[in-house]
Amino acid sequence: RSKRHGGNTMHVYSSSSESRNPGRLPMETALRRALKREELLIYYQPQVCLPTGRICGVEALLRWRHPEKGVKSAARYIPLAEETGLILPISEWVLHEACSQFGVWSREGISVGRMAINLSARQFRQKSLTGQLGRILHDCDLAPDALELELTESMLVDDVETAMETMSALKGMGIHLSLDDFGTGYSSLSYLKRFPIDTLKIDKSFVRELSTDSRSFAVADGIITLGHRLELGVLAEGVETAEQLSRLYDSGCDMVQGYLFCRPLPAEQLTTLLREPPTDFLLHRSQSSKTE
Ligand code: C2E
Ligand code: MG
Ligand code: MG
Ligand code: MG
Repeated sequence: RSKRHGGNTMHVYSSSSESRNPGRLPMETALRRALKREELLIYYQPQVCLPTGRICGVEALLRWRHPEKGVKSAARYIPLAEETGLILPISEWVLHEACSQFGVWSREGISVGRMAINLSARQFRQKSLTGQLGRILHDCDLAPDALELELTESMLVDDVETAMETMSALKGMGIHLSLDDFGTGYSSLSYLKRFPIDTLKIDKSFVRELSTDSRSFAVADGIITLGHRLELGVLAEGVETAEQLSRLYDSGCDMVQGYLFCRPLPAEQLTTLLREPPTDFLLHRSQSSKTE
């Protein structure tokens, strides 16, 4: 469980924490520079509706164009960014960048449904979050309904009442909320029924073992039933094989996302794909680059 940080204050290193993890300071310096030198970029991965096969959303995924290592997933750096507070300027940049991209697509007549953005724990606790979102939506001329924020269970359980207030405020603005990596966190079903969320995202660990492990299938199938009984949409992430897709389809899953359809792509590459949408995206196998 992540440890708490006070308000929005920046965490200051103590020499003891640096000596515990000697690689950290250079990494922090590099991350700071990445933000300043505009080495951050976003890849976008389509979310596909079942049974239509239409793209109903796009998830923004942070990447770092490392001067030596090339384009890397930012996942490894997010915990450090959380700890140092760097996640706040990074997250603000992500929100702005992804919302502007949505605007670009809209103006080109390309409909991607909704832009899904991962929220960080610190960002979620920031008092100024709703104000910031309101400004960004306004600047990018985006309807709140076009934005989906992905939360994780761990962000919600530490202080349920405050989390409920924040979620209600976001919902009140008209923003959609989803619960990412569902099934892997500290989920309490008694909270789940109270959370004002729209969508459950089944974690890819269950999807990966869907065809080989009957228990993983039971969990995925159960999440779909549970979600529907709570009148939530259910999306499965990490769908890589036709067999996984067919099982999810049979279980009534509403949306899918994964390499089977499309890898996360830079905006320009995805634009090409979106301009000539395959008549049935479900039949489409992405031949796009293996980069991520
Ligand atoms: P996530 O939100 O659960 O994102 C899904 C991850 O699964 C992404 O990894 C995506 O590239 C990967 N993925 C998509 N399809 C498949 C598939 O078919 N198979 C497999 N094995 N993986 C697939 P990525 O981009 O490395 O991101 C990892 C995590 O980093 C994300 O997990 C999210 O929690 C976090 N993250 C990414 N971008 C941001 C951001 O802008 N802000 C914050 N706070 N976190 C972010
Ligand atoms: Mg996500
Ligand atoms: Mg996430
Ligand atoms: Mg996830």
